Amino acid sequence: MSKKLLLKDAHIEGIRYFETYRKQGGYTAAEKALKMTPDEILEEVKASGLRGRGGAGFPTGMKWSFLAKPEGVPRHLVVNADESEPGTFKDRYLMEFLPHLLIEGMLISSFCLGSNTSYIYIRGEYSWIPDILEEAIEEAKAAGFLGKNILGTGFDLEIYVQRGGGAYICGEETALLESLEGKRGNPRLKPPFPAVKGLWERPTVVNNVESIAAIVPIIDITGAEYAKIGVGRSTGTKLISACGNINKPGVYEIDMTITVEEFIYSEEYCGGIKDGKRLKACIPGGSSVPIVPANLLLKTVNGEPRYMNYESLADGGFATGTMMGSGGFIVLDEDQCIVDHTMTLARFYNHESCGQCTPCREGTGWMYKILKKIEKGEGKMEDIDLLWDIQRKIEGNTICPLGDAAAWPVAAAIRHFRDEFEWHIKNPELSQTQNYGLAHY
Ligand code: SF4
Repeated sequence: MSKKLLLKDAHIEGIRYFETYRKQGGYTAAEKALKMTPDEILEEVKASGLRGRGGAGFPTGMKWSFLAKPEGVPRHLVVNADESEPGTFKDRYLMEFLPHLLIEGMLISSFCLGSNTSYIYIRGEYSWIPDILEEAIEEAKAAGFLGKNILGTGFDLEIYVQRGGGAYICGEETALLESLEGKRGNPRLKPPFPAVKGLWERPTVVNNVESIAAIVPIIDITGAEYAKIGVGRSTGTKLISACGNINKPGVYEIDMTITVEEFIYSEEYCGGIKDGKRLKACIPGGSSVPIVPANLLLKTVNGEPRYMNYESLADGGFATGTMMGSGGFIVLDEDQCIVDHTMTLARFYNHESCGQCTPCREGTGWMYKILKKIEKGEGKMEDIDLLWDIQRKIEGNTICPLGDAAAWPVAAAIRHFRDEFEWHIKNPELSQTQNYGLAHY
């Protein structure tokens, strides 16, 4: 059984409220941190090996150490709660059931970074959660953990919740900052990076909800102890939101030492494939990461078991592996059509493109149209090469990672399931009524 750090108290009735959270030891990590220096906290975060839980996996301690500290200029912490990646809903769970864990993590992080005004930018569709967060903020303030002179330390902190308008692109950190400033959420050219010029051109750290929540156990048990959980550079625990054709969809906390096979089939996690069907493929890190066929998902190219961690999932690079990404684990059974699935994703990215860069604005639309044609049985063989060519021209040629996110699912689908694309083209009459099935793989 995986060790629980974030969700250990999630089952306790009333844990959403300050009184119950406090009774379970809540805010003791904050009390401990406020007796430390900001540099000591930063060293603990670095020692923990925590990697950003939003998708990129960049070391959090290193990100914090980049924060510029010019004299007299305010700094900000912004929590990215714009969780819009298809298949990803773990931050929603944290905010809905454990809001004080996030507030406590923000208090510690803001103290470390020197932010007296911090923000939670939350996805517009999570319409019921801002009230939960604002209630938790008021409770924390009434108990002296927010506001002026927190616990007599002289440190002041206000936290504001800002609702997004429902655009996926606002999950990109610079688009989020634009939106937070009241502008259209267009990603900015980098550099300058937010650590130097972020919110209102002030030094800013933008971190995912889960990353900030993880600061609480890191301070609680120390960074060194946190780093002992997991394996290699995949330290600590990770939340996974599992969905698709499985028996037990939900949010799970894993310690990144379990295999993919165990995660899918054990009763503790996904409980196996629904209706006794067979596994066809999986997208383990949210819709932006490459899809992996079952044979490569359960084992690496070297025949080793594949583990639920950053290194093992990426083993073999994008040719065979994939990424941990945001932890949105989407399972596809033998009845799922890869062309249809890829087309749905292409439509999503086309719809969510902000339109600033030509390769993304035009390319995502072309990919969607070609995939739709193939799915309807109206494609030609050369369309597959055209699709491949378009995704190559998008990848790496755009302002923000949405371009790559749109290109990778198409590339991986063609790489691993080219036969299925060809079958649609060769069998136009069957294309919409039947699936290629699993027997071919
Ligand atoms: Fe906008 Fe797409 Fe360019 Fe990102 S890659 S800035 S979403 S057009």
